[in-house]
Amino acid sequence: MSATIIDGKAFAAGLRARVAEDVRGLAERGIAPGLAVVLVGEDPASQVYVRNKAAQTVEAGMRSFQHRLPATTSQAELLALVHTLNADDAVDGILVQLPLPAGIDAQAIIEAIAPEKDVDGFHPANVGRLATGMPGLVPCTPLGASMLIDSVRPDVAGLEAVVIGRSNIVGKPMAQLLLQRSATVTIAHSRTRDLADVCRRADILVAAVGRPEMVRGDWIKPGAVVVDVGINRVPNPQAEDGKTRLVGDVAFDEAKEVAGAITPVPGGVGPMTIACLLANTLQAAKARRGL
Ligand code: NDP
Repeated sequence: MSATIIDGKAFAAGLRARVAEDVRGLAERGIAPGLAVVLVGEDPASQVYVRNKAAQTVEAGMRSFQHRLPATTSQAELLALVHTLNADDAVDGILVQLPLPAGIDAQAIIEAIAPEKDVDGFHPANVGRLATGMPGLVPCTPLGASMLIDSVRPDVAGLEAVVIGRSNIVGKPMAQLLLQRSATVTIAHSRTRDLADVCRRADILVAAVGRPEMVRGDWIKPGAVVVDVGINRVPNPQAEDGKTRLVGDVAFDEAKEVAGAITPVPGGVGPMTIACLLANTLQAAKARRGL
């Protein structure tokens, strides 16, 4: 039997609509949540992300502030902008688009963002809050992935969860979220031995690696929930004009024959990331006002 395909695009649209409704409620009380997005340099992928973030922020009824700085921007200049945004009452959320150009210490920038405006959830204060079970801002991609898991497997207590990848952005916070829900969590990475065997025991398998179609169908436990965070651009042999296509970290066609539910790429976790960014901005706007 073929797996349920988890429609992240539709789920994200629903989440954005719920955020927009809440924002309308705030507008009636004279409150307009604002998100500031900072882009340093000309990275083409980052430019697309920033444009999409701004468009969806406005669509949700929130204020969008964009700051585009040249690749030559110094760390001191970027820190000065972050400090200005921290102090700006119209700004509820601050997102500095990563990666930053060489010469800028990304960790120092992340740590300069006021934790209550850190809608990416990367500040050590928010990382610590997540790890200790305190309310805080949670990184958008794993937050979105966990919502998709909830949509098909609301109770993961006692289940075996395997997260492949241990980045601060995806893997580690994903594992924390699953642990919070009482799954038995294994974090796998490039040094993990017998990765396929580790994956085969997973009732919930999250791949956040960045290696096209690495997870094969025979790595998957029958009936498992498979969440593919990977976004990899690969050559498309079907296209004559040398165009590329997007694939995940999971070999989707094989995996969907074994899994119980699976997220596609594109249209799975990807759309959830920006929707969760908007949800985090709303959360930050409310929390700052004690709502
Ligand atoms: P990183 O490169 O920071 O981390 C990748 C992780 O995968 C590392 O922990 C690494 O292990 C591990 N890894 C690499 N090779 C292997 C291997 N052969 N076997 C097992 N583990 C391996 O990536 P990110 O976490 O930032 O992103 C992961 C993927 O998710 C990428 O494809 C990225 O494009 C995508 N992504 C998607 C987003 C979305 O919106 N949907 C948002 C963010 C990321 P080690 O630590 O040992 O090096």
